[in-house]
Amino acid sequence: MTYAAPVSAMLHTFKMVGVDALYTEDFNEELFQGILEEAAKTADNKLAPENKKGDKSGVIFKDGNVTMPAGWKALYKDWCDGGWNGLPASPEYGGQGLPYLLNTACLEMWNAANPSFGIGPVLTQGAVEALNAHGSEALKTAYLPQMIEGSWTGTMNLTEPSAGSDLSVVRSKAVKAGDHYLITGQKIFITWGEQDLTENIIHLVLARLPDAPAGTKGISLFLVPKILPDGTRNDLRAHSVEHKLGLHASPTCTMIFGDKGGAIGYLIGEENRGLNCMFTMMNNARLAVAIQGVAVAERAYQQALSYARDRVQGRMAIIHHPDVKRNLLTMKALTYASRALCYRTAIALDLAHHGDKLKGQEAALLTPVAKAFSTDNGIEVASLGVQVHGGMGFIEETGAAQHMRDARIYAIYEGTNGIQAIDLVTRKLTQEGVVAREILRHEAVLTRLKGVNTSEYGATLARFSESLDAFKEATRHILSHPEQALAGATPYTKLFGLTAGASALIEEAMMGGDIALARFMAEHLLPQTSGLSLEITAGAASLEVIL
Ligand SMILES: Cc1cc2nc3c(=O)[nH]c(=O)nc-3n(C[C@H](O)[C@H](O)[C@H](O)COP(=O)(O)OP(=O)(O)OC[C@H]3O[C@@H](n4cnc5c(N)ncnc54)[C@H](O)[C@@H]3O)c2cc1C
Repeated sequence: MTYAAPVSAMLHTFKMVGVDALYTEDFNEELFQGILEEAAKTADNKLAPENKKGDKSGVIFKDGNVTMPAGWKALYKDWCDGGWNGLPASPEYGGQGLPYLLNTACLEMWNAANPSFGIGPVLTQGAVEALNAHGSEALKTAYLPQMIEGSWTGTMNLTEPSAGSDLSVVRSKAVKAGDHYLITGQKIFITWGEQDLTENIIHLVLARLPDAPAGTKGISLFLVPKILPDGTRNDLRAHSVEHKLGLHASPTCTMIFGDKGGAIGYLIGEENRGLNCMFTMMNNARLAVAIQGVAVAERAYQQALSYARDRVQGRMAIIHHPDVKRNLLTMKALTYASRALCYRTAIALDLAHHGDKLKGQEAALLTPVAKAFSTDNGIEVASLGVQVHGGMGFIEETGAAQHMRDARIYAIYEGTNGIQAIDLVTRKLTQEGVVAREILRHEAVLTRLKGVNTSEYGATLARFSESLDAFKEATRHILSHPEQALAGATPYTKLFGLTAGASALIEEAMMGGDIALARFMAEHLLPQTSGLSLEITAGAASLEVIL
């Protein structure tokens, strides 16, 4: 089963999030639509056909070198030649300066078509963002043009064996040596840490200076190229690649820096301010992973829908059995609701970059929800996709199993979903007025729904109204019982996602979209919100047991 990028659904969601606010003399509807249609051709016809082959062949690791799947070198070059890598990047260094909203839709296409391929550019774009925001002019001039073009890829070297969710204990070292630093240490799980698609790889590495304060305030960020400006090889190497549940064609490497005395690295930003530099791009990177959840969900949904239309059991295609229909509609509603939340986050980031402070706060609030909700949904949707296939879903041949395997990582990397939930309840929710504005937005949708409420909407109004009450009640509880917030963080994030996701589908329905889908979400999925609110308001007492 191939993939067809859902361009018209994407454009409809663009409208719902208010894409008009991004139109200028240069940017208009025709341009955005044209770009999405071109991206769709690349995703559908070039990247998607290589997905299963890459999953089967994986990557080959030998003597520190990684061989990517056959044909990927040409595929990657062709993709870069299309200008896709530099879509959101600064025109000053060769990028196209297009909105995150547009790039987010494109990232969905690359990652749905071929997730092991799509993850590479996600990392490069993240590295570009960090370098552009914090690097010196000299570093930017020397590295950004190639990274934006894609002829050099970028990586993020954060994780170490004892520093995963808790980066305060990073141990890699950096010692000043003239105009550069010498980096030593080991990093694990580094995506695209080594590959043979490009001549150079630019590693962004977190390390600690000898006299640095302990904890997060003593970490610095360095640019450490595989090939140095004079053409020689830097003192770094991939030690191995991991054998993983999914993303088989994405090399996840253990990296060794400084075997021979120290890898040459250049400071990005100020000494000891490395985590701050990383945080600048965190919202974007987290949004990119959120959209990976949407991507795998969309692909799994398309595949299950096509299978259900053809597979006959009980004298009819299984798509006509109510239980299968319920599974398929659940898949579609969760996918579309997640996409809507991601696009809301993306456009809020765009408007924040144009100076809108409130939109900046909205983006910060929505980011952990978009990340956790969309990636949890990616797993659920991919699993339902296997279910719709019956036994054939468990057999690798159909490809449904690959989606389920690939989906699992998105809830783990770029901050596990547990960490996202903690971020939401401890840092984001407590920002002055931000959640009140979120509630107002949904109340406005409820009011509009009251005005247009036809029989087609069924019980949408009642269920959405209850869901909004549950959201308000749970929010009040979390804010007035901060000591219980950590226990309720994950169910609260889900409750937030379901309510905001349904709100978005209702808004889309009222703008000429899919009323049946909004109704399904309200009648079949929103009843969970009352249960989630009960779970949150029950507090933390039942967690106080010794395991
Ligand atoms: C395929 C793959 C690709 C990756 N790519 C990269 C990459 O390119 N660069 C990079 O730097 N890293 C990368 N990572 C690492 C990834 O970001 C980490 O695995 C992730 O941050 C979690 O860290 P950990 O594995 O050490 O888990 P841990 O931090 O040990 O977490 C284990 C569990 O405990 C929970 N937990 C931890 N702390 C808390 C807390 N304070 N409160 C509540 N719960 C908590 C977590 O939610 C999780 O469920 C990758 C990992 C994989 C598997």
